[in-house]
Amino acid sequence: MLYLVATPIGNLSDISLRALETLREVDYVASEDTRKTGRLLKHFQIHKPQISFHEHNEQQAGAKIVRLLEQGHSVALVSNAGTPGIADPGYTLVRQAIERDLPYTMIPGPSALVMALVLSGLPSHSFSFRGFSPRKQGKRRRFLELDRDSSHTLVFYESPYRLKAFLSDAIAVYGDRPAAIANELTKMYESMQHGRLSELLAGFENEEPRGEYVVVIAGS
Ligand code: SAM
Repeated sequence: MLYLVATPIGNLSDISLRALETLREVDYVASEDTRKTGRLLKHFQIHKPQISFHEHNEQQAGAKIVRLLEQGHSVALVSNAGTPGIADPGYTLVRQAIERDLPYTMIPGPSALVMALVLSGLPSHSFSFRGFSPRKQGKRRRFLELDRDSSHTLVFYESPYRLKAFLSDAIAVYGDRPAAIANELTKMYESMQHGRLSELLAGFENEEPRGEYVVVIAGS
């Protein structure tokens, strides 16, 4: 059985009872970053063989996981943080399980995109999750332009190193729309900033972005 197990996005108390039960019971834990996952497992005194599964080895590691599943072993897939299969290669494993008729399920839990969207106060009945945008400006602008006329609320993941450039490009492409920035959700310095994109960008004039960010932008 393949289990997609959501894990905390910061605060370890957000782990669910089912996630702990599952991680204790499975034969293997597959994860993007075995060191990070090792720390999580150690915190909960769980000792399991780990399999590294990330975008650079997803073919080989995916084949290995499928072999184990076909032999009757159970495998839990966890992401670096939050919900596996969101902005990581988890979906390729789900697809293989579907194609091979292998049993699979999910232990749901935290996800940065859902928490940021809900706390943004922007309409959440219809939204587009756009994940990470391209690193280079030209590609990033073209990527943002795809949603210029969309009426859905837009949700982006962004690294602290590119957040200011991302906000400038968002202003250039979308105009000065209402938006929100979520930072370090569930952690000690959790914060939400709300305002027009230009106000949010101005907030970084004297302070460099730090930690993990989700940007939520109103639709057109
Ligand atoms: N699978 C994860 C999920 O369910 O949210 C997301 C993995 S994605 C590779 C990592 C990105 O999620 C970070 O770069 C950041 O944009 C966002 N993120 C993760 N944890 C966060 C947190 N505690 N606060 C704000 N954003 C977070």
